[in-house]
Amino acid sequence: MVELPDSRVHPTEFVQKVIDGLCELSLKDPLTGLANRRHFLSVLEREIDGVARSGEPALLLMLDIDHFKSINDTHGHIAGDKVLQAVAKCLSRCIRPMDSVARYGGEEFAVVLPNCLVSVGEAVAERIRTTVESLSISVSPTVTVKATISIGGAYAPAWVRSTAPLWIERADNLLYQAKAQGRNRVCIDHQQAIAVSAEEKNLLFGHLALGEPAWLERVNGEPGGGETSGVNP
Ligand code: GH3
Ligand code: MG
Ligand code: MG
Repeated sequence: MVELPDSRVHPTEFVQKVIDGLCELSLKDPLTGLANRRHFLSVLEREIDGVARSGEPALLLMLDIDHFKSINDTHGHIAGDKVLQAVAKCLSRCIRPMDSVARYGGEEFAVVLPNCLVSVGEAVAERIRTTVESLSISVSPTVTVKATISIGGAYAPAWVRSTAPLWIERADNLLYQAKAQGRNRVCIDHQQAIAVSAEEKNLLFGHLALGEPAWLERVNGEPGGGETSGVNP
């Protein structure tokens, strides 16, 4: 919060405070203190660059609180806000310093884990899921609430520049599967390079037709479809 200048504050110091406040507003979700969607998207773009250059596996998790509407309906909106804050804090504690977590939307969160081996991604997501499940969230002096989350996870395709919307779409599809399978569960696409969407395949192989390098390719227009190829080893 930036206050009105007082005569003892140097103007430069005041302007710096205003700039800091604006930066905070543009990057952070005010309720949870996590990165907001806009900031997360820029982190994701940076991560896509890293994967395209290094081929290191990076995992994107989309997480959504189960039946959150009924938490609001039963305990009230303020209690719902406390649940969001508790889940946000829990997620921040579950991740490594190199990972990023954001509030992606209402009761949806996103985590990106750079350099996360395909063999451990599921265990990491499962640990996050069980840690949230174990919380007892105090929403008033006499009431505690339990919450569960469903998680969808997708790896960025190695050695190719995907796009944030395509990557998010694949993780979102898996989140949808986790919901459809009963909630409070993890669905991860284990393939880093094989189960790519039609658009990502185009990024991988389109250059052969166009005579241009794949790593410079970009999808033109809105991403659509996003279904995985279904090719399994
Ligand atoms: P599902 O398991 O399918 O995800 O069901 P759900 O009830 O969690 O999902 P739904 O989309 O039906 O409801 C999400 C609710 O989240 C509705 C909306 O009012 C609430 N919500 C969104 N943002 C906030 C917020 O900032 N605070 C509170 N208290 N509620 C919020
Ligand atoms: Mg939900
Ligand atoms: Mg939701």
